[in-house]
Amino acid sequence: MADRFDLAVIGAGPGGYVAAIRAAQLGMKVVCVDRRSALGGTCLNVGCIPSKALLDSSELYAFAGSRIGEYGVKIDGITLDLKTMLGRKDHVVKGLTDGIAYLFKKNGITSLQGTAKLVGPGNLSVKKAQGSSEVVEAQSILLATGSEAADLPALPFDGSSIVSSTEALSFERVPTHLIVVGGGYIGLELGSVWARLGAKVTVVEFLPRILPFADAELATILHKSLAKQGLKFHLETKVTGGSQQGGQVIVNAQAKGEGVLFQGDKVLVAIGRRPVTSGLGLDEAGVAVDKKTGRVVVDANYQTSVPGIYAIGDLISGPMLAHKAQEEGSAVAEQLAGMKTQVNYAAIPSVVYTWPELASVGATEEQVRELGRAYRVGKFPFLANGRARCLGETEGLVKILADAKSDRLLGVHILGPRASELIAEAVLAMEFSASAEDLARTCHAHPTLSEAIHEAALAGDQRAIHL
Ligand code: FAD
Repeated sequence: MADRFDLAVIGAGPGGYVAAIRAAQLGMKVVCVDRRSALGGTCLNVGCIPSKALLDSSELYAFAGSRIGEYGVKIDGITLDLKTMLGRKDHVVKGLTDGIAYLFKKNGITSLQGTAKLVGPGNLSVKKAQGSSEVVEAQSILLATGSEAADLPALPFDGSSIVSSTEALSFERVPTHLIVVGGGYIGLELGSVWARLGAKVTVVEFLPRILPFADAELATILHKSLAKQGLKFHLETKVTGGSQQGGQVIVNAQAKGEGVLFQGDKVLVAIGRRPVTSGLGLDEAGVAVDKKTGRVVVDANYQTSVPGIYAIGDLISGPMLAHKAQEEGSAVAEQLAGMKTQVNYAAIPSVVYTWPELASVGATEEQVRELGRAYRVGKFPFLANGRARCLGETEGLVKILADAKSDRLLGVHILGPRASELIAEAVLAMEFSASAEDLARTCHAHPTLSEAIHEAALAGDQRAIHL
């Protein structure tokens, strides 16, 4: 007879592994099943981590090859060692995925490799790679199966020339011409990587702008900056088909009623991600799925339409982000332990790791306007920030939106150097329902990039000092 667990988690991504660890910390007997051999899900294996490792490497290469001379450092004969760069990325991934295996062991979590399926109340069948199956019994089941790249029926993936982000993290050669379909963050980040390493990169986007969920003003500045770095953009252009000939992909598209052709040796289709539900046995178990989005429907406690079955992360509604999945993982474990934990969805940051980086929390200016809310804007450019000048990274600005009456923060948007780190202050401020005045009254170390946040808060009240 199989062991009976308090919690069985399907999926060891940031949602599932955090839920498993938190539940074990709270005294539950936990099993976590993943079909991958390495733990950490999309994020650690083929998402956040490998993409950032390549962004960091390619940034150094581009910097050393272009601007380092301005800093009084002369280097001759820069060459790209792509094999080492990819090897370093794989090493970073392995270190972190092994780290999760260590944490599972330390917390007494049973880790099973195999494909899990719901089979009757409180039961899962786990099919192993060798073909054998085992049944796992648990009081509660948590679905954390995440998401996968959405394909474009007009231009289906072939795994070598027309690829998803997964393959674009491991090209063995720098493409001559990479066509990126989709101007979202994944397309822009991976497009930046290969452009920095020498590829011609063309981004084809259906909408009239890149990054449709970002603050339009900052997205426009980032668009211009990426164009200056050599990325070519074709907006309002709809991909309609494609064909392959002699190692080249011909992409057919329509722009303003006219047919357009793009030709490249690699095409990255990055038009979004969809939840992984197939083969999970959701229908048979009676777990409701939103017909439009394909995402599993949950209540405020992450319980699905079936008592005892929960779901989190990319599989349910909300932004498909690792830290959102992690917060939900902790919350569901704590709720199962009787705690009243809730996730504050109004204070979830999002980051685009291009150069400059774009980081945001809360509402964009367009969203605030749509709500018909009276608001104040404070802006401060990195050009006027001492530390940004020392770093030689003066592109971008901080933009703070606050309620005109109460001064409460509504949204903070940062385009600039290390925006990914700077946004944490704004997230904390929003978590504590702070006002712009709270940021303005907070002493910031000098000289730091964070002073731009301080000054933007002052600027909202027409009292910026360095502007
Ligand atoms: P996942 O991480 O997708 O994990 C789900 C796991 O479930 C997988 O390991 C899968 O093998 C397993 N699984 C699925 N079905 C079964 C089954 N039936 N049986 C057993 N196992 C199963 N997010 C950020 O916040 N920051 C970033 O910088 C960022 N960069 C990204 C870059 C790229 C290129 C990509 C693709 C994604 C990026 N993301 C980023 C998104 C992030 O990876 C996801 O939001 C996050 O991984 C979702 O976590 P999850 O736990 O819901 O699911």
